[in-house]
Amino acid sequence: MDGSDPREVVAGLCRELVERGLSGVLASGNVSCLAGDGRTLAITRSGVSFADTTAANVVTCDVSADRRSAAPRSPGPSIELPLHLATYRACRFGPRAVLHLHSAYSVAVACLDLEALPFVHYHQALLGSESTPFVPYRTPGSPELAELAAAAFERVSTRALVLAHHGCLVAVEDAAAGVALAEVLEDVCRILIQTAGRHRELDADEFPRLAALFQTYGR
Ligand SMILES: [Zn+2]
Repeated sequence: MDGSDPREVVAGLCRELVERGLSGVLASGNVSCLAGDGRTLAITRSGVSFADTTAANVVTCDVSADRRSAAPRSPGPSIELPLHLATYRACRFGPRAVLHLHSAYSVAVACLDLEALPFVHYHQALLGSESTPFVPYRTPGSPELAELAAAAFERVSTRALVLAHHGCLVAVEDAAAGVALAEVLEDVCRILIQTAGRHRELDADEFPRLAALFQTYGR
């Protein structure tokens, strides 16, 4: 989507999330993407649902500005701007778009006492080369939540996070793939709920072999 107006890209992703039933009952959450130059970020406005997001009410911010002062005064960006900036900074895949959702199964899974999602073939090939980690609960919108998310991205080679008692996040290199990856993550969460806590962990020794396999998956 390089070259597109990033506000249009964000609005399009929000529309797609609603159409695919990933927006949760309140159509809440937040979406951002980088402009072509990588210096500007477009993000959903605070308090505006996915269903009501249009290019006209998407907010743009300077990525290089200090995290706490990046927000323009009015109209305000999502309170999760620090979480998005932390993701662009720390995710190893060099994302161009970030989607933070309160989708039904991801919220259900976020309430489980786990450290990572179980391995699900082939979903895992798209989510990253290690199991999707849980980020411990911190107040939504807080710098502490952003810092813990960044720490998880630094520790684990992943495009996705589960935010405890809150929801999930996916980070994608191509904004056009954002909703599809959110759908993959939601499907893993659905599968986990359907195992009713009886899932088995894959032997960690297998992960390096799978990581090598995933590098060429789909190419
Ligand atoms: Zn949230």
